[in-house]
Amino acid sequence: MTRVSLIRKLRSSARCMRRARMVARALKSRDHPILAQIVPVRRCNLACAYCNEFDNFSKPVPTAEMLHRIDLLAALGTGTITISGGEPLLHPDLDEIIRRIRSHGIIATLISNAYLLTPERIQRLNRAGLEYLQVSIDNLTPDEVSKKSLKALDLKLRWLEEYAEFDVIINSVLGSGIRNPEDALVIARRARALGFAAGVGIIHDRQGQLIPLDEQQRAVHEQILELGKGSFLTSAYYKHFQNNLVRGLPNDWQCRAGSRFLYICEDGLVHWCSQQRGYPGIPLERYTREDIAREYNTKKPCAPYCTITCVHQTGMIDLVRERPREALAGFFPPEQTKGVAGLPAAIKVLTWLFPPETRGLPTGMARRLFRAAAMKFLGLD
Ligand code: SF4
Ligand code: SF4
Repeated sequence: MTRVSLIRKLRSSARCMRRARMVARALKSRDHPILAQIVPVRRCNLACAYCNEFDNFSKPVPTAEMLHRIDLLAALGTGTITISGGEPLLHPDLDEIIRRIRSHGIIATLISNAYLLTPERIQRLNRAGLEYLQVSIDNLTPDEVSKKSLKALDLKLRWLEEYAEFDVIINSVLGSGIRNPEDALVIARRARALGFAAGVGIIHDRQGQLIPLDEQQRAVHEQILELGKGSFLTSAYYKHFQNNLVRGLPNDWQCRAGSRFLYICEDGLVHWCSQQRGYPGIPLERYTREDIAREYNTKKPCAPYCTITCVHQTGMIDLVRERPREALAGFFPPEQTKGVAGLPAAIKVLTWLFPPETRGLPTGMARRLFRAAAMKFLGLD
Protein backbone atom coordinates (compact mmCIF):
# COMPACT_ATOMS: atom_id res chain seq x y z
CA MET A 1 0.00 0.00 0.00
CA THR A 2 1.42 3.43 -0.95
CA ARG A 3 1.63 6.35 1.47
CA VAL A 4 -1.18 8.17 -0.37
CA SER A 5 -3.53 5.17 -0.44
CA LEU A 6 -2.93 4.73 3.30
CA ILE A 7 -3.80 8.40 3.86
CA ARG A 8 -6.89 7.94 1.68
CA LYS A 9 -7.99 4.94 3.77
CA LEU A 10 -7.44 6.75 7.08
CA ARG A 11 -9.22 9.88 5.88
CA SER A 12 -12.01 7.71 4.47
CA SER A 13 -12.80 6.45 7.99
CA ALA A 14 -12.96 10.04 9.26
CA ARG A 15 -15.23 10.93 6.33
CA CYS A 16 -17.50 8.01 7.23
CA MET A 17 -17.91 9.51 10.65
CA ARG A 18 -18.74 12.92 9.15
CA ARG A 19 -21.31 11.31 6.88
CA ALA A 20 -22.84 9.43 9.80
CA ARG A 21 -23.12 12.70 11.66
CA MET A 22 -24.73 14.38 8.62
CA VAL A 23 -27.26 11.53 8.31
CA ALA A 24 -28.00 11.58 12.05
CA ARG A 25 -28.63 15.34 11.90
CA ALA A 26 -30.98 14.80 8.95
CA LEU A 27 -32.78 12.06 10.88
CA LYS A 28 -33.17 14.38 13.83
CA SER A 29 -34.62 17.36 11.97
CA ARG A 30 -36.21 18.09 8.58
CA ASP A 31 -35.66 21.84 8.63
CA HIS A 32 -32.46 21.97 6.56
CA PRO A 33 -31.17 20.76 3.14
CA ILE A 34 -29.28 17.47 3.31
CA LEU A 35 -27.61 18.04 -0.05
CA ALA A 36 -27.22 20.99 -2.41
CA GLN A 37 -25.76 20.90 -5.90
CA ILE A 38 -24.11 24.08 -7.17
CA VAL A 39 -22.98 25.01 -10.68
CA PRO A 40 -19.86 27.23 -10.83
CA VAL A 41 -19.68 27.08 -14.63
CA ARG A 42 -22.17 25.81 -17.23
CA ARG A 43 -19.53 25.34 -19.91
CA CYS A 44 -18.14 21.86 -20.56
CA ASN A 45 -15.09 20.70 -22.49
CA LEU A 46 -17.11 17.69 -23.77
CA ALA A 47 -20.51 17.40 -25.43
CA CYS A 48 -22.15 14.09 -24.51
CA ALA A 49 -25.15 13.45 -26.76
CA TYR A 50 -27.56 12.61 -23.90
CA CYS A 51 -26.64 15.61 -21.70
CA ASN A 52 -28.79 18.72 -21.17
CA GLU A 53 -26.61 20.30 -18.47
CA PHE A 54 -23.89 22.07 -20.44
CA ASP A 55 -23.08 24.67 -23.06
CA ASN A 56 -19.87 25.59 -24.85
CA PHE A 57 -19.74 29.32 -24.18
CA SER A 58 -20.70 30.33 -20.60
CA LYS A 59 -18.22 32.20 -18.46
CA PRO A 60 -17.45 30.98 -14.91
CA VAL A 61 -19.67 32.43 -12.17
CA PRO A 62 -17.61 35.15 -10.38
CA THR A 63 -15.79 33.64 -7.42
CA ALA A 64 -17.15 36.15 -4.89
CA GLU A 65 -20.68 35.20 -5.97
CA MET A 66 -19.96 31.47 -5.57
CA LEU A 67 -18.51 32.03 -2.10
CA HIS A 68 -21.57 34.07 -1.14
CA ARG A 69 -23.87 31.25 -2.33
CA ILE A 70 -21.94 28.76 -0.19
CA ASP A 71 -22.34 31.05 2.84
CA LEU A 72 -26.10 31.20 2.16
CA LEU A 73 -26.31 27.39 1.94
CA ALA A 74 -24.36 27.12 5.18
CA ALA A 75 -26.82 29.51 6.85
CA LEU A 76 -29.65 27.18 5.77
CA GLY A 77 -27.83 24.31 7.53
CA THR A 78 -26.85 22.34 4.39
CA GLY A 79 -25.02 19.05 5.14
CA THR A 80 -23.26 18.33 1.83
CA ILE A 81 -22.47 20.47 -1.21
CA THR A 82 -21.80 18.83 -4.56
CA ILE A 83 -20.08 20.97 -7.19
CA SER A 84 -21.26 20.05 -10.67
CA GLY A 85 -21.55 21.73 -14.05
CA GLY A 86 -20.82 21.82 -16.93
CA GLU A 87 -17.28 20.86 -16.01
CA PRO A 88 -16.32 22.40 -12.64
CA LEU A 89 -12.56 22.04 -13.27
CA LEU A 90 -13.01 24.86 -15.81
CA HIS A 91 -13.65 27.28 -12.94
CA PRO A 92 -10.37 29.11 -12.20
CA ASP A 93 -11.05 29.28 -8.44
CA LEU A 94 -12.49 25.83 -7.81
CA ASP A 95 -10.04 25.22 -4.95
CA GLU A 96 -11.21 28.36 -3.17
CA ILE A 97 -14.82 27.22 -3.57
CA ILE A 98 -13.98 23.84 -2.01
CA ARG A 99 -12.10 25.54 0.83
CA ARG A 100 -15.11 27.75 1.60
CA ILE A 101 -17.40 24.69 1.73
CA ARG A 102 -15.05 22.95 4.16
CA SER A 103 -14.65 26.09 6.29
CA HIS A 104 -18.35 25.73 7.18
CA GLY A 105 -17.91 22.07 8.17
CA ILE A 106 -19.94 21.01 5.10
CA ILE A 107 -18.99 17.84 3.20
CA ALA A 108 -17.41 18.79 -0.17
CA THR A 109 -18.07 16.63 -3.25
CA LEU A 110 -17.12 17.20 -6.88
CA ILE A 111 -18.56 15.73 -10.09
CA SER A 112 -16.11 15.90 -12.99
CA ASN A 113 -15.44 14.22 -16.33
CA ALA A 114 -11.78 14.03 -15.17
CA TYR A 115 -10.34 15.07 -18.54
CA LEU A 116 -8.49 18.03 -17.00
CA LEU A 117 -6.94 16.11 -14.11
CA THR A 118 -3.17 15.96 -13.79
CA PRO A 119 -1.06 14.83 -10.81
CA GLU A 120 -0.56 18.47 -9.87
CA ARG A 121 -4.31 19.26 -10.16
CA ILE A 122 -5.18 16.23 -7.98
CA GLN A 123 -2.71 17.37 -5.32
CA ARG A 124 -4.28 20.84 -5.37
CA LEU A 125 -7.69 19.25 -4.79
CA ASN A 126 -6.15 17.36 -1.82
CA ARG A 127 -4.87 20.61 -0.35
CA ALA A 128 -8.22 22.35 -0.89
CA GLY A 129 -9.88 19.65 1.23
CA LEU A 130 -12.00 17.83 -1.35
CA GLU A 131 -13.66 14.78 0.22
CA TYR A 132 -15.35 12.92 -2.65
CA LEU A 133 -14.84 12.93 -6.40
CA GLN A 134 -17.40 11.34 -8.70
CA VAL A 135 -16.37 10.46 -12.25
CA SER A 136 -18.74 8.97 -14.83
CA ILE A 137 -17.33 6.70 -17.53
CA ASP A 138 -19.75 5.71 -20.27
CA ASN A 139 -17.94 3.29 -22.58
CA LEU A 140 -14.63 1.54 -23.27
CA THR A 141 -13.77 3.54 -26.39
CA PRO A 142 -15.05 6.99 -27.37
CA ASP A 143 -17.99 7.12 -29.78
CA GLU A 144 -20.42 9.72 -31.15
CA VAL A 145 -22.50 9.61 -27.92
CA SER A 146 -19.76 10.04 -25.35
CA LYS A 147 -16.02 10.65 -25.10
CA LYS A 148 -16.01 9.64 -21.43
CA SER A 149 -14.35 6.34 -22.19
CA LEU A 150 -12.11 4.08 -20.13
CA LYS A 151 -9.51 4.27 -22.91
CA ALA A 152 -9.32 8.06 -22.61
CA LEU A 153 -9.54 8.17 -18.81
CA ASP A 154 -7.59 5.17 -17.55
CA LEU A 155 -4.41 7.22 -17.09
CA LYS A 156 -6.43 9.73 -15.00
CA LEU A 157 -7.70 6.86 -12.85
CA ARG A 158 -4.13 5.66 -12.27
CA TRP A 159 -3.10 9.18 -11.28
CA LEU A 160 -6.07 9.30 -8.89
CA GLU A 161 -4.98 5.99 -7.39
CA GLU A 162 -1.48 7.37 -6.96
CA TYR A 163 -2.21 10.90 -5.71
CA ALA A 164 -5.82 11.34 -4.47
CA GLU A 165 -6.34 11.60 -0.73
CA PHE A 166 -10.10 11.97 -1.27
CA ASP A 167 -12.56 9.13 -1.98
CA VAL A 168 -13.19 8.36 -5.64
CA ILE A 169 -16.45 6.97 -6.98
CA ILE A 170 -16.56 5.72 -10.57
CA ASN A 171 -20.04 5.61 -12.09
CA SER A 172 -20.83 3.66 -15.21
CA VAL A 173 -24.16 4.00 -17.00
CA LEU A 174 -26.74 1.77 -18.61
CA GLY A 175 -29.49 2.75 -21.00
CA SER A 176 -30.45 4.25 -24.27
CA GLY A 177 -27.54 5.45 -26.41
CA ILE A 178 -24.92 3.28 -24.70
CA ARG A 179 -23.96 0.81 -27.41
CA ASN A 180 -22.45 -2.03 -25.33
CA PRO A 181 -24.03 -2.58 -21.90
CA GLU A 182 -21.13 -4.92 -20.95
CA ASP A 183 -18.80 -1.89 -21.00
CA ALA A 184 -20.38 -0.81 -17.72
CA LEU A 185 -19.29 -4.05 -16.09
CA VAL A 186 -15.68 -3.71 -17.30
CA ILE A 187 -15.60 -0.11 -16.00
CA ALA A 188 -16.99 -1.14 -12.62
CA ARG A 189 -14.42 -3.97 -12.33
CA ARG A 190 -11.60 -1.57 -13.20
CA ALA A 191 -12.82 0.87 -10.53
CA ARG A 192 -12.89 -1.87 -7.89
CA ALA A 193 -9.43 -3.10 -8.93
CA LEU A 194 -8.04 0.39 -8.32
CA GLY A 195 -9.66 0.50 -4.88
CA PHE A 196 -12.42 2.94 -5.83
CA ALA A 197 -16.15 2.66 -5.21
CA ALA A 198 -18.15 1.65 -8.27
CA GLY A 199 -21.69 2.76 -9.00
CA VAL A 200 -24.09 2.45 -11.90
CA GLY A 201 -26.67 4.94 -13.14
CA ILE A 202 -29.51 4.74 -15.63
CA ILE A 203 -29.62 7.21 -18.51
CA HIS A 204 -32.79 9.28 -18.35
CA ASP A 205 -34.77 11.37 -20.80
CA ARG A 206 -34.73 15.18 -20.75
CA GLN A 207 -37.09 15.35 -17.76
CA GLY A 208 -35.12 12.91 -15.61
CA GLN A 209 -37.54 10.08 -16.43
CA LEU A 210 -36.79 6.41 -16.91
CA ILE A 211 -36.16 4.93 -20.35
CA PRO A 212 -36.81 1.22 -19.64
CA LEU A 213 -33.85 -1.18 -19.81
CA ASP A 214 -33.81 -4.34 -21.92
CA GLU A 215 -32.99 -7.89 -20.77
CA GLN A 216 -29.25 -7.61 -21.48
CA GLN A 217 -28.94 -4.26 -19.66
CA ARG A 218 -30.79 -5.69 -16.64
CA ALA A 219 -28.40 -8.67 -16.50
CA VAL A 220 -25.37 -6.34 -16.53
CA HIS A 221 -26.93 -4.25 -13.77
CA GLU A 222 -27.29 -7.37 -11.63
CA GLN A 223 -23.63 -8.30 -12.15
CA ILE A 224 -22.39 -4.82 -11.25
CA LEU A 225 -24.33 -4.89 -7.98
CA GLU A 226 -22.68 -8.18 -7.10
CA LEU A 227 -19.25 -6.55 -7.41
CA GLY A 228 -19.17 -4.55 -4.32
CA LYS A 229 -20.50 -2.98 -1.27
CA GLY A 230 -20.92 0.73 -0.78
CA SER A 231 -22.26 2.85 2.03
CA PHE A 232 -25.55 1.74 3.57
CA LEU A 233 -27.38 4.49 1.67
CA THR A 234 -25.90 3.33 -1.62
CA SER A 235 -26.63 -0.36 -1.14
CA ALA A 236 -30.14 0.37 0.12
CA TYR A 237 -30.65 2.59 -2.89
CA TYR A 238 -29.67 -0.15 -5.34
CA LYS A 239 -31.77 -2.75 -3.56
CA HIS A 240 -34.83 -0.59 -3.37
CA PHE A 241 -35.17 2.35 -5.79
CA GLN A 242 -32.94 1.29 -8.63
CA ASN A 243 -34.09 -2.31 -8.61
CA ASN A 244 -37.64 -1.14 -9.31
CA LEU A 245 -36.54 1.14 -12.13
CA VAL A 246 -34.39 -1.52 -13.74
CA ARG A 247 -37.50 -3.72 -13.90
CA GLY A 248 -39.53 -0.83 -15.34
CA LEU A 249 -41.53 -0.37 -12.13
CA PRO A 250 -42.39 2.99 -10.52
CA ASN A 251 -41.15 3.96 -7.05
CA ASP A 252 -43.63 4.99 -4.39
CA TRP A 253 -41.82 7.83 -2.65
CA GLN A 254 -42.08 11.51 -1.88
CA CYS A 255 -39.43 13.58 -3.68
CA ARG A 256 -38.12 16.25 -1.28
CA ALA A 257 -36.45 18.38 -3.95
CA GLY A 258 -36.56 22.09 -3.14
CA SER A 259 -36.36 21.16 0.53
CA ARG A 260 -33.89 18.44 1.45
CA PHE A 261 -32.21 18.67 -1.96
CA LEU A 262 -31.50 21.99 -3.69
CA TYR A 263 -30.14 22.58 -7.17
CA ILE A 264 -28.57 26.02 -7.55
CA CYS A 265 -28.01 26.95 -11.18
CA GLU A 266 -25.30 29.29 -12.47
CA ASP A 267 -27.72 32.23 -12.11
CA GLY A 268 -28.14 31.54 -8.39
CA LEU A 269 -31.74 30.28 -8.65
CA VAL A 270 -33.02 27.33 -6.62
CA HIS A 271 -34.60 24.55 -8.70
CA TRP A 272 -36.02 21.14 -7.79
CA CYS A 273 -33.19 19.35 -9.61
CA SER A 274 -31.02 19.45 -12.74
CA GLN A 275 -33.85 17.97 -14.84
CA GLN A 276 -36.71 20.10 -13.48
CA ARG A 277 -35.24 23.57 -13.76
CA GLY A 278 -37.68 26.47 -13.45
CA TYR A 279 -39.39 25.24 -10.26
CA PRO A 280 -39.51 26.98 -7.85
CA GLY A 281 -36.92 29.26 -9.53
CA ILE A 282 -36.45 31.49 -6.47
CA PRO A 283 -33.07 33.25 -5.96
CA LEU A 284 -31.03 31.49 -3.24
CA GLU A 285 -30.62 34.91 -1.63
CA ARG A 286 -34.37 34.90 -0.88
CA TYR A 287 -34.77 31.18 -0.13
CA THR A 288 -36.03 30.68 3.40
CA ARG A 289 -37.01 27.95 5.85
CA GLU A 290 -40.63 28.57 4.77
CA ASP A 291 -39.68 27.58 1.21
CA ILE A 292 -37.94 24.48 2.56
CA ALA A 293 -41.04 23.56 4.58
CA ARG A 294 -43.39 24.12 1.62
CA GLU A 295 -41.35 22.11 -0.87
CA TYR A 296 -40.97 19.24 1.62
CA ASN A 297 -44.66 18.45 1.05
CA THR A 298 -44.98 19.49 -2.61
CA LYS A 299 -45.95 16.49 -4.75
CA LYS A 300 -43.73 16.09 -7.79
CA PRO A 301 -45.55 14.46 -10.72
CA CYS A 302 -42.22 13.19 -12.08
CA ALA A 303 -41.43 11.15 -8.92
CA PRO A 304 -42.56 7.59 -9.85
CA TYR A 305 -40.14 7.14 -12.77
CA CYS A 306 -37.43 9.57 -11.62
CA THR A 307 -33.85 8.32 -12.02
CA ILE A 308 -32.01 11.06 -10.10
CA THR A 309 -29.97 9.02 -7.63
CA CYS A 310 -28.86 11.76 -5.25
CA VAL A 311 -32.43 13.00 -4.71
CA HIS A 312 -33.64 9.44 -4.09
CA GLN A 313 -30.94 9.06 -1.46
CA THR A 314 -31.95 12.20 0.42
CA GLY A 315 -35.57 11.01 0.20
CA MET A 316 -34.54 7.71 1.78
CA ILE A 317 -33.24 9.49 4.87
CA ASP A 318 -36.65 11.13 5.36
CA LEU A 319 -38.42 7.82 4.80
CA VAL A 320 -36.32 6.35 7.62
CA ARG A 321 -37.00 9.41 9.78
CA GLU A 322 -40.75 9.35 9.25
CA ARG A 323 -41.50 5.62 9.02
CA PRO A 324 -38.36 3.84 10.25
CA ARG A 325 -39.72 0.34 10.48
CA GLU A 326 -41.46 0.28 7.12
CA ALA A 327 -38.55 2.05 5.41
CA LEU A 328 -35.86 -0.30 6.72
CA ALA A 329 -38.00 -3.34 5.93
CA GLY A 330 -38.46 -1.99 2.38
CA PHE A 331 -34.75 -1.19 1.84
CA PHE A 332 -33.51 -4.44 3.35
CA PRO A 333 -36.17 -7.11 2.83
CA PRO A 334 -35.57 -10.14 5.10
CA GLU A 335 -35.38 -12.51 2.11
CA GLN A 336 -32.42 -10.54 0.71
CA THR A 337 -30.55 -9.82 3.93
CA LYS A 338 -31.08 -13.13 5.78
CA GLY A 339 -32.23 -11.18 8.84
CA VAL A 340 -30.27 -8.73 10.97
CA ALA A 341 -26.96 -10.61 10.49
CA GLY A 342 -26.96 -9.79 6.77
CA LEU A 343 -27.44 -6.04 7.19
CA PRO A 344 -24.65 -3.48 6.66
CA ALA A 345 -23.13 -2.28 9.97
CA ALA A 346 -24.68 1.19 9.77
CA ILE A 347 -28.11 -0.32 9.24
CA LYS A 348 -27.64 -2.58 12.24
CA VAL A 349 -27.21 0.61 14.27
CA LEU A 350 -30.30 2.14 12.69
CA THR A 351 -32.39 -0.98 13.25
CA TRP A 352 -31.23 -0.87 16.86
CA LEU A 353 -32.29 2.75 17.13
CA PHE A 354 -35.59 2.07 15.38
CA PRO A 355 -36.14 -1.65 15.96
CA PRO A 356 -38.94 -3.29 13.99
CA GLU A 357 -41.25 -4.90 16.52
CA THR A 358 -41.00 -8.31 14.86
CA ARG A 359 -37.24 -8.53 15.49
CA GLY A 360 -37.72 -8.75 19.25
CA LEU A 361 -34.99 -6.19 20.05
CA PRO A 362 -35.07 -4.15 23.25
CA THR A 363 -37.55 -1.30 23.22
CA GLY A 364 -38.66 1.40 25.61
CA MET A 365 -36.05 2.66 28.05
CA ALA A 366 -33.08 0.74 26.57
CA ARG A 367 -33.72 2.07 23.11
CA ARG A 368 -34.21 5.63 24.34
CA LEU A 369 -30.94 5.47 26.26
CA PHE A 370 -29.09 4.07 23.26
CA ARG A 371 -30.54 6.72 20.98
CA ALA A 372 -29.53 9.47 23.43
CA ALA A 373 -26.00 8.00 23.68
CA ALA A 374 -25.70 7.79 19.88
CA MET A 375 -26.86 11.39 19.45
CA LYS A 376 -24.36 12.52 22.09
CA PHE A 377 -21.57 10.57 20.41
CA LEU A 378 -22.43 12.27 17.13
CA GLY A 379 -22.54 15.67 18.83
CA LEU A 380 -26.24 16.12 18.12
CA ASP A 381 -27.82 16.15 21.55
S1 SF4 B 1 -19.06 15.67 -19.42
FE1 SF4 B 1 -20.84 15.83 -18.10
S2 SF4 B 1 -21.53 17.97 -18.23
FE2 SF4 B 1 -20.11 17.58 -19.94
S3 SF4 B 1 -21.46 17.07 -21.63
FE3 SF4 B 1 -20.84 15.13 -20.69
S4 SF4 B 1 -22.40 14.64 -19.16
FE4 SF4 B 1 -22.68 16.81 -19.76
S1 SF4 C 1 -38.91 13.49 -8.85
FE1 SF4 C 1 -37.72 15.12 -7.93
S2 SF4 C 1 -35.60 14.66 -8.45
FE2 SF4 C 1 -36.88 13.42 -9.79
S3 SF4 C 1 -37.06 14.62 -11.65
FE3 SF4 C 1 -38.82 15.12 -10.35
S4 SF4 C 1 -38.20 16.93 -9.15
FE4 SF4 C 1 -36.35 16.02 -10.03
